[in-house]
Amino acid sequence: MSKILTQRVKCNQCDNEDDFPVHHSVNVSLDPDLKERVFKKDLFNFSCDTCGCNAIILHDFLYHDMKNKFIIQYLTKGQLTPEMTPGLALFAEQGYKIRVVGNLNDLIEKILIFDQGLKDTAIEVLKATIMAKEDEKDKPVTSVYFAAKSKNDNGEEGLYFVATREKDEPKYLTFLMKDIKTHLESAPEELAKWPDPKSMIVNFKTMFPEDSEKKGE
Ligand SMILES: [Zn+2]
Repeated sequence: MSKILTQRVKCNQCDNEDDFPVHHSVNVSLDPDLKERVFKKDLFNFSCDTCGCNAIILHDFLYHDMKNKFIIQYLTKGQLTPEMTPGLALFAEQGYKIRVVGNLNDLIEKILIFDQGLKDTAIEVLKATIMAKEDEKDKPVTSVYFAAKSKNDNGEEGLYFVATREKDEPKYLTFLMKDIKTHLESAPEELAKWPDPKSMIVNFKTMFPEDSEKKGE
């Protein structure tokens, strides 16, 4: 079940107080409509009944997919606290894949990856390849995200990525499945063994610590 607790929130424009449903956990297998709201990022939107102004109220929450057996803990501060580990351990014991993310785009990307039955460790390597190729001195890469599985005009399947660079339009790049098949198969499921934090945080920084330091991350 999803865990939703109502909290009183004060509008910072008109001081009116309103109820705001805080989604502490979202079970998308039991409440599939909430999945769409995660993708639209509207779980965090507060709209004041009195003055109509909108605000974003970010809070930690757990994304739970029972069917594909994965848990993603979204943390606004990006840091796991010791009290969170026992809850996650219960899922780990049941064979769940567990990830921790610190921003909503990372959360959505992980969902897209696991929904497609892909390994995020393999995806991070492909992203690093794009980063290395697209990074230019006056147009540094600011982000690379996995977007979807796609098919080209010849019916060939591929993985589709979006790269953004400073002072530039987003760029769309595809890896053909036939070229990366071996890579996808041989990549490890996990970076480390539970409960090593590296098993929960799979990103450029944990996979390529030296390169990440060079990039000043
Ligand atoms: Zn208001």
